[in-house]
Amino acid sequence: MFESSADAMPPTITACHECDLLNHVPVLAPGTTARCTRCNGVLYRNPKDCLDRTLALAFASLALYLVAVTFPFLAFGSGGNVVETSLLTGVRDLHRQGLDLLAAVVLITSVIAPAAVIFCYMYLLLPLKRGRSPVYVQPVYRALRAITPWNMIEVFLLGILVALVKLAGMAEVIPGIAVWSFAILIITLASASSNFEPAVYWNEVERCR
Ligand SMILES: [Zn+2]
Repeated sequence: MFESSADAMPPTITACHECDLLNHVPVLAPGTTARCTRCNGVLYRNPKDCLDRTLALAFASLALYLVAVTFPFLAFGSGGNVVETSLLTGVRDLHRQGLDLLAAVVLITSVIAPAAVIFCYMYLLLPLKRGRSPVYVQPVYRALRAITPWNMIEVFLLGILVALVKLAGMAEVIPGIAVWSFAILIITLASASSNFEPAVYWNEVERCR
C-alpha cells in the first residue's frame, strides 16, 4: 500500500482556484480535505489509498482494453450471412474505403489514447510500490495530462449506439463482448482519473527520491 501518512504532506501556502485567496494549507491526514477559508472551495484532498485505487483501476482498464481491441466488436447478420468486425478491422476498413482521416481519428482517440493513458498510470505508479521514483516521471506525467483529453472512447461508443439504432432495420446487429468491455473501460478510466490526486502523488514521489 502507498503511504499517505499525515506527516508526509508538508504544510504549504496555495491560492484558491475559485477566489484566488492565499490559504495556509495545514498538514492533511489521509481521508481529509482542505477547503478555502473564504469560499469553501476545495484546495487539496488526501483521500485514503487514492494511488492504490488508481493503480488497481489501471490494471482493470488494461484487462478490459485488451478484450476491447482483440474480441469481436459487432456482428452483422443478413440473409444467413454473419460478418464480425473488431475495433482494429474497423479502422482498417475505414482506411480501405478511403476515409483515412476518420480512420486516424478513431485509431488515435479509441485505440492509442486509452492505451497510452493506461501505460502512463502504470509507469507513474508501479515503481512507487517498490519504493522507487519513476525515472521519467516528469515527461510521463506531462504526457498523461496532454493525452487524457484525446481519450474519447465514450464519444466513439455513442457513435456505435447511433449506428446500431440506424442499422437495426436493415440487418441484425449483435453487440460483441468488446462493446461491453469498452463500456466498462469508460467507467474504470474515468474512476482512475478521478482517484489520481496530483498533490498526493508528487508527495509520494518526493518521499521515494
Ligand atoms: Zn476561495
